[in-house]
Amino acid sequence: MAAAIPLRIIEGRDAIRKNILLALGIVPRARWGLLTPKHQNLEYDWNYHSIAIHHSGNKGYKNPKQIEDYHMRNNQFDDVGYHFMVSPEGNIFEGRNLLHKGSHVKASNTGRIGILVMGDFDEQWWDEDDELTPKQLNSTKKLIKTLKQHFNIRELGGHREFLPGSGYTCPGNVLMNIIEQLRTEYGILAPQTAQGSSSNLTAHFTGRGTLS
Ligand SMILES: [Zn+2]
Repeated sequence: MAAAIPLRIIEGRDAIRKNILLALGIVPRARWGLLTPKHQNLEYDWNYHSIAIHHSGNKGYKNPKQIEDYHMRNNQFDDVGYHFMVSPEGNIFEGRNLLHKGSHVKASNTGRIGILVMGDFDEQWWDEDDELTPKQLNSTKKLIKTLKQHFNIRELGGHREFLPGSGYTCPGNVLMNIIEQLRTEYGILAPQTAQGSSSNLTAHFTGRGTLS
C-alpha cells in the first residue's frame, strides 16, 4: 500500500477529476457499475505523464459492464483496469478512479492513464473488425486534449509500444495508425524506450516481472 496522502491533497485531486468528468460529460463509475471497486486495496497515483491506448481485442467488448465483469470477476482485479472507456457511440465511461493507479500495462502503470477504445481494431484475415466511428474518435481526441490540459502528458502510445518485444498487438493496427496521427496533432511523443524512459519511472524496474 502507498504511504498516506493528506486528505486536502486527495480532495484537490478529486476536484480535478470531477472537473474532467463534467467537462466531457463522462459517465461516472458509480452510475454505470454493477460491482463495487475495492478502493482500499488500490494504490494512489497522480502526476500522470503518459497515456496508453487499448482496444477490446477479439472479445470485441463495447459495453463497460463487460469490461468490469472480465476484469473483476475473471481476472480478479480490485477494479476495472482502465481509467476511461470510449464507446462506439462516443460515450465516455469512467473506469478506475483517476486517484488510483491503473492496471493496464503489466508492471508499468505508474503515472500512466489507461484509455480503452471499445472495439476490435486488429486487422486479421479470420475475423471481422471494427472501424472507429467518427463519434468515438472525436470523444477519444477530446479526452486526450482535456487530460493534457490537467497533466504534463509527454508520451502517448498504444499498449504494445509500452511493452516492446512482448508480442502484444493491442491496440490493433487500425487504432495504432490513428494514435500516430494524434501524436503529431498534439505534439506528444511516442513511448521512448521499453517500459518507459522518464526518470520518474525508475521505480518500475524494481517491479518488473510481477504482474499488476
Ligand atoms: Zn491493451
